[in-house]
Amino acid sequence: MVVNLNPRVVSFHYTLKNAAGEQLESSFGSDPLMFLEGSGQIIPGLEEAIKMLSVGDKKVITVKAAEAYGEIEEEMIVEVPKDRLPKKDVEVGDRFHADAGDGHAQVVQVTMVTETHVTIDGNHPLAGQDLTFEVQIDSTREATQEELQHGHAHGPGGHNH
Ligand code: ZN
Repeated sequence: MVVNLNPRVVSFHYTLKNAAGEQLESSFGSDPLMFLEGSGQIIPGLEEAIKMLSVGDKKVITVKAAEAYGEIEEEMIVEVPKDRLPKKDVEVGDRFHADAGDGHAQVVQVTMVTETHVTIDGNHPLAGQDLTFEVQIDSTREATQEELQHGHAHGPGGHNH
């Protein structure tokens, strides 16, 4: 086992499946995902497992909902009067950005529409789900000082300024 003292920039390919074994996403065939270790760019359960991996390593990592996109929080599901929405014609399945209250935009999804009200759900679409990632490490390198200061990876697959 290799112990990494300095944060790395890791790029990896992954296939994401839900508990039923259905494939939700895959990066194979396109660009790998790149992240800076310790920066919270990927879900905690996945990062914890990738910490132990080196270039070329493949691993199947199962992450419980709590360590992935969290459990479903009831208070994130709210009913709002239609006249308070920016647009009138909303349908179940519509997604839009809402102010999360801390200055951050948050994606919410419409889950129910009545004559007068709309129910919106601010939970991540993958909240409440145990997820399985089949990962393959594409490359790793030491993070630059600039990346450590910015808190994200730079370059292809990462942040562009
Ligand atoms: Zn930056």
